[in-house]
Amino acid sequence: GVDAHYYANVTDDYYQTVFSRDSLDDNGTQMISTAHFGKNYNNAFWNGVQITYGDGDGTTTFRELSGGLDVATHEFTHGVTEFTSDLVYQGESGALNESFSDMLGNSSEFYAAQNGLDRKVGPDWQIGEDVYLPKDTVAGFRNMADPAEDGDPDHYSELYTGNQDNGGVHSNSGIPNHAYYLVVNGGTNARQGTANHPHTGPNVKAIGLPAAEKIFYTGFTSLPSTATMAEARATTVAVAGGLYGEGSLQQTSTSNAWEAVGVR
Ligand code: ASP
Ligand code: ZN
Ligand code: CA
Ligand code: CA
Repeated sequence: GVDAHYYANVTDDYYQTVFSRDSLDDNGTQMISTAHFGKNYNNAFWNGVQITYGDGDGTTTFRELSGGLDVATHEFTHGVTEFTSDLVYQGESGALNESFSDMLGNSSEFYAAQNGLDRKVGPDWQIGEDVYLPKDTVAGFRNMADPAEDGDPDHYSELYTGNQDNGGVHSNSGIPNHAYYLVVNGGTNARQGTANHPHTGPNVKAIGLPAAEKIFYTGFTSLPSTATMAEARATTVAVAGGLYGEGSLQQTSTSNAWEAVGVR
């Protein structure tokens, strides 16, 4: 319970300081959290009104899910999305909804680190590393730096088109997640040139987190609810041009990052 409310407060600070956003609705609505849901419940969720955290089973899958800042900011960001773009939780728009929650989830870890708000754990590009128990190549159940490490697509050519999980919202999110990672940090697609991943794409020049989070926050909160990944590319590229200038490094890198994950 303490973790849940502490991390709600860090998330609120992050929204306020970085985006001048006043809570989920930008009008100071209460951020409500409940801990200890169910018994050994291995998940956390936003239900349209509040966050609910399970305790996890404590031995094989999760410990108390409120113990991860990226989890808390991920869930609250579903609320921000609901009050803004309202991205439909299905198919490509659902993957964008999930991805935006992962983007801000980890971006808030960097904010917390910079401001001494989470002293025991450092910021990173994995999701759930502080609460996910299985031994894994890289801790955490999703990895924005290398989505394939957790079995998720990092390129549009690998888009999952089946019916599970609302059309793969928690795996197709790997595609925009990796674009965001690349625009912040620079580089080529994590699996470029490796067996079974014959992607070729640009080497993205890093623009750093402060510019990237501004571009993606502004872009994603203004998308139409049925947006495709191609529309997310067009919108963020336009936003980058508006904020930093047409032809700026920030705009070119935003465009190249989407290109590196095969979205056009
Ligand atoms: N278990 C989901 C996840 O992995 C919860 C959510 O999407 O909010 O992110
Ligand atoms: Zn989610
Ligand atoms: Ca993380
Ligand atoms: Ca992992």
